[in-house]
Amino acid sequence: MKKKPSTIAIDGPAASGKSTIAEKLARELGYLFFDTGVMYRAVTLAALRRLGTVEDETAVSQLAAEVDIDITPPSKEDGRKYDVLLDGEDVTWEIRSREVEASVSQVSAYPGVRKAMTDQQRRIGLRGHCVMVGRDIGTVVLPEADLKIYLVASPEERARRRHQENLQRGLASDYSAILQAMIRRDQIDSTRQVAPLKPAEDAHIIDTDGLSIEEVLGRVRSLLEDCARAETDLNG
Ligand code: C5P
Repeated sequence: MKKKPSTIAIDGPAASGKSTIAEKLARELGYLFFDTGVMYRAVTLAALRRLGTVEDETAVSQLAAEVDIDITPPSKEDGRKYDVLLDGEDVTWEIRSREVEASVSQVSAYPGVRKAMTDQQRRIGLRGHCVMVGRDIGTVVLPEADLKIYLVASPEERARRRHQENLQRGLASDYSAILQAMIRRDQIDSTRQVAPLKPAEDAHIIDTDGLSIEEVLGRVRSLLEDCARAETDLNG
């Protein structure tokens, strides 16, 4: 019998389509969709609110170990895919603010913050039946994942997508500001000491430039098939 991959890691830079693809895939497979970026965003929001800044690494790391972050099924029909709760408060949209976005890469480069988040993510991922999205899932959080995918797209294409998303949500949006902020975030994410953004050696890289969501999903589905077939061949 064919065995479907149970843990699927999807990594890549900001707005490369990871969440969109992962959410649809998880729904098709009946798996949990887990977007790990929301955890770093929630810690950043907590730091900005309580400390007023994210500069104090020790204080931010301590906060990361203390706060309670929960991700639950969507409670409202306002375009959200899940609720993000910070110590019980709904912060689903607040973690997408420009202020959080400007500081999240600095916060997520702190080793103490990463340790607190990675431990929780790994525990959830190891239960299986999970599509986990982030920057370091295939390399650090779940290096034993059954299938690893790394999505890429040019910065211009990614900024255009984010700009469109904002406009669709009725938000003011500035394409050049988004592009600059995204390039900066990718730069910090890929050059940090701990768990930098990079494809795992055994990741399948998909360049999504010029591809529709359906086309990317098609490629992911065939990778899943290949993976299931390889498993069958191995076990007879
Ligand atoms: O995916 P998203 O854009 O929501 O991630 C926000 C930020 O969280 C990233 O720019 C990165 O700094 C951090 N992050 C991370 N490791 C992950 C997921 C996100 O460092 N696994």
